[in-house]
Amino acid sequence: MQRLILAVNAGSSSIKFQAFAADHASLERRVAGQLDGIGSQPRLVIKTGAGDILKEQSFATGEIASVEAAEELIGIWLLGADGARAVGGPLDAVGHRVVHGGPEFAGPAAIDDGVLARITALTHLAPLHQPKNLAPIHAWRRRQPNLPQVACFDTAFHRGHGELADRFAIPDALYREGVRRYGFHGLSYEFIAQRLRDVAPEIADGRVIVAHLGNGCSLCAVKNGRSIDSTMSFTALDGIPMGTRPGAIDPGIVLYLLREKGMDAAAIERFLYHECGLKGLSGISNDVRVLEASADPMARLALDHFVYRIAKEMGALAAVLGGIDALVFTAGIGENGAALRREIVAAGAWLGLGLDDAANQARALDISGKGASARCLVIPTDEERMIARHTYATLWP
Ligand code: AMP
Repeated sequence: MQRLILAVNAGSSSIKFQAFAADHASLERRVAGQLDGIGSQPRLVIKTGAGDILKEQSFATGEIASVEAAEELIGIWLLGADGARAVGGPLDAVGHRVVHGGPEFAGPAAIDDGVLARITALTHLAPLHQPKNLAPIHAWRRRQPNLPQVACFDTAFHRGHGELADRFAIPDALYREGVRRYGFHGLSYEFIAQRLRDVAPEIADGRVIVAHLGNGCSLCAVKNGRSIDSTMSFTALDGIPMGTRPGAIDPGIVLYLLREKGMDAAAIERFLYHECGLKGLSGISNDVRVLEASADPMARLALDHFVYRIAKEMGALAAVLGGIDALVFTAGIGENGAALRREIVAAGAWLGLGLDDAANQARALDISGKGASARCLVIPTDEERMIARHTYATLWP
């Protein structure tokens, strides 16, 4: 039976949403929208499934100052005449991206009071992100208390990691209270792992490194369609550098900031989440496009360091996988950054990677060079579609 499902993906400064008509076999996108620049330059764009613009609006900074305010605007539109017409009827369910599922959630969960309390109790593991994911859940409960909702966790795809990959070399008591390597971007990786079955079935059961390179960046080692390790760990700070996060740093640096710079926890948190990465290193921007266009040597250094660190972590994940059959690029930089793709693949030549330059420029699905022993693919991710699939399968198995 066909159901209308809203998928909500609330981030720190944006909300993405898509509505689908779903049944057991297929998902048809009816609406796709995004409100980004929350708190700075809010801008809402809503399109039909075919990509035609339904609504486009910019706001003054103070008009949409929070994720809650953005969510309210989207909720009102969806429940209004225009929204209902575009979706094709009243919603049957809402699915949400929830960044942290802790050690316990290894898959999506239908939200009731108990599940909501457990998700809320995990907030201390993701203090910046979990509240933004909870806001739309509360809003839909208020609006339509009987509308089924499902939480889809960014950590869940990684819950099958072996214990060796899951541990830090710290006392067991800390592991037991939850200090372990969780991994994130799980909805994106799961989508890619499933998509590989359609677009490249011959490697879907192989050894694949997926590079999710967007605002946040991580790599995932996927074997037989399952995550076995990932560069992000206890928080979304670990691993490779990102737009404004440094990736892995010596924990001694945090002690240095505490002792020598007199920074407190809040100041260090702000520093690590917002003032490092490509932006911090270049001193110019977190946006790869801006850095590529800049003549400033620090812009080049930041990009070179980004590639160097990705190449280094690819080596680590290749070791975990015992070699690689393919590298898959996804997310904003991975899907659009042809120049960086070329440099990353060149740095991974020793793994058997090679590039077809024309295919890379054209952003073809398969950008592997002739004679390369490991394949190289570009696959656009779609976390909202993954959320909708999970929501349908959880509520109507
Ligand atoms: P996402 O979080 O997946 O939306 O990715 C956002 C990031 O993608 C931005 O910060 C940009 O750095 C990057 N990006 C978008 N378009 C391009 C492009 N044409 N070339 C390189 N990077 C891009």
